[in-house]
Amino acid sequence: MNNSSILIIYTGGTIGMKTDPVVGALRPFDFSQILEEVPELKKFAGSIDSYSFDPLIDSSDIDPEMWKKMAVTIRDNYDKYDGFVVLHGTDTMSYSASALSFMLQNLSKPVIFTGSQLPVGAPRTDGKENLVSAVEIAAAKNPDGSSRVPEVAIYFGSVLMRGNRTTKVNAESFEAFRSPNLEPLAETGINIRYNDRVIRKWNGLPLVVSLGLDTRVSILKIHPGITPQVVSNILLGPETRAVIIETYGAGNAPSAPWFLDLVREAAASKILVNVTQCPAGTVDMDLYATGKQMKDAGVVSGYDSTTEAMLAKLFHLLGSGYSDSEVKAQLAVNLKGEI
Ligand code: ASP
Repeated sequence: MNNSSILIIYTGGTIGMKTDPVVGALRPFDFSQILEEVPELKKFAGSIDSYSFDPLIDSSDIDPEMWKKMAVTIRDNYDKYDGFVVLHGTDTMSYSASALSFMLQNLSKPVIFTGSQLPVGAPRTDGKENLVSAVEIAAAKNPDGSSRVPEVAIYFGSVLMRGNRTTKVNAESFEAFRSPNLEPLAETGINIRYNDRVIRKWNGLPLVVSLGLDTRVSILKIHPGITPQVVSNILLGPETRAVIIETYGAGNAPSAPWFLDLVREAAASKILVNVTQCPAGTVDMDLYATGKQMKDAGVVSGYDSTTEAMLAKLFHLLGSGYSDSEVKAQLAVNLKGEI
């Protein structure tokens, strides 16, 4: 126990849900019942306050307005607390953690997302351990008083991961998330083992909260048998400024002339980014001819970013007033440990 003060921001999700007797399905309930179920929470920080979204939501309903609400809540309470825990449904947690990682610049305090696969009141719940450890991590300090983990991270299933490196990989297991391209920031067992070599350091600058988000981004997942109509609709959609192309392997895509013609046409007026469909590994468009032709057609590399992180990065960069060429240049920069 230390004397850190923690704010828990409760947005909804399974952790706080109960079966609604009328509809017979899980729905979010208020935060007081979480505290009732986890009285030991108080042992891990000096003081714990909570702020609940109203209404509480299933995270399938998360949208950029809610990311702004989370970011503003953290900004408005930044001086009062040493760390923040965001209780969030698992379905879109990786998107929200990615978005917050770009919106909260110069972060010096932990923002730890967590949730659970079973409600906190269920006998075999994973919610208690996830919540208690997330609070302990948010409260953790270095000997000089600085935060141990000044990052937006996800704690789930005994592992602390950089938020913008995660993907939800399992709809049932308590190990619901993976960070395939980056080692854990910490792992919990009898003790919490921090991986200080990987944890990002605060840059010494004051917090800046960037609320500009431009959502004119689409995702095109390549698959055998994809038709020119589908590719054209997504790549040339008039409302789209950027398209994430989810390719095969190291960034490879079909070499059919109609496909490459459409890519070239779209690349003339939009930002096209190459992200691999593989859960792990990186895009390298110089490895195969089928990747090289994408590069030659004007597609830029997303390196080893997850799709979730790339979507959030594009929303953030497009919403920050950069020109398309500036956005393309920033896509090659590791802004928040996402590549
Ligand atoms: N549907 C729920 C949500 O994302 C699932 C969960 O919390 O695990 O809100």
